[in-house]
Amino acid sequence: MPRKPSAPKSSANSSFRNLKRQFGRRMVEALQKSPTLIDDIERIREAGVRIRLVDGPCRAYYDRKKRTIYIGRWCPRNYKLISIAHEFVHALVKPTVDPVPGKTGRQEFIDRCIEEETEAIVHEIEIVKELIKAGIPVDPKELEWLKRYRRGGRTAIRKALQKTITSTTGEDYPEYYGSWYDEIVPVAQRIP
Ligand SMILES: [Zn+2]
Repeated sequence: MPRKPSAPKSSANSSFRNLKRQFGRRMVEALQKSPTLIDDIERIREAGVRIRLVDGPCRAYYDRKKRTIYIGRWCPRNYKLISIAHEFVHALVKPTVDPVPGKTGRQEFIDRCIEEETEAIVHEIEIVKELIKAGIPVDPKELEWLKRYRRGGRTAIRKALQKTITSTTGEDYPEYYGSWYDEIVPVAQRIP
C-alpha cells in the first residue's frame, strides 16, 4: 500500500516565519490580528511575490520587474502593515498596465491609475478597521481615509485622490500619472 504523503508544512506559518525574520516578532503579532492581511499575505506567497524591507525614507512600492513589494525599513509599524495590503492590490488585484503608444489615451490612463489607487486605498481601509478593532494605534493620515470612506464611500476616496499630492514627486496624482504616460508614450503617439 502506498504511503500517504506527509501533510504539507503549513505554508502560512512559513511565510510568517519569513516575515518575522525581516520585520520582527512584534510586527507579525500585530499582523496576525488582521484576518484580511493574513489572507493577503497568503495570496502574496502563493503568487510568488516577495516582500522586502528597503532603506531610505519611509515609503512603500511594488516593483513589477522584480515581483517584489518594498516596504521602508524605518516606517512606523502600522504603516508597514497597511502598506503590505495596499501594495498587494497593485501587485495582484489590479496590476498596473503600461499605456500602449498610439492606443491608450492620456486621460484614459490617468483615470485607470486613479481607479487602481482607489481600489488599493479602499482595501487598506479594511486593514485599518481590523487594526483599530484589535487596539493597534493607526496614523492620523489613515484615519482620515477611513473617515472619508465612511462619509462618501469609494467616490469620496476617488475625489480626494484627484487632489492628493504624491509623496514621491510632489505632484498631485493626475499630474503624476500624466508624467508617467509622457515618459512611456512618445509625443507623436500620444492621444489626449
Ligand atoms: Zn498605491
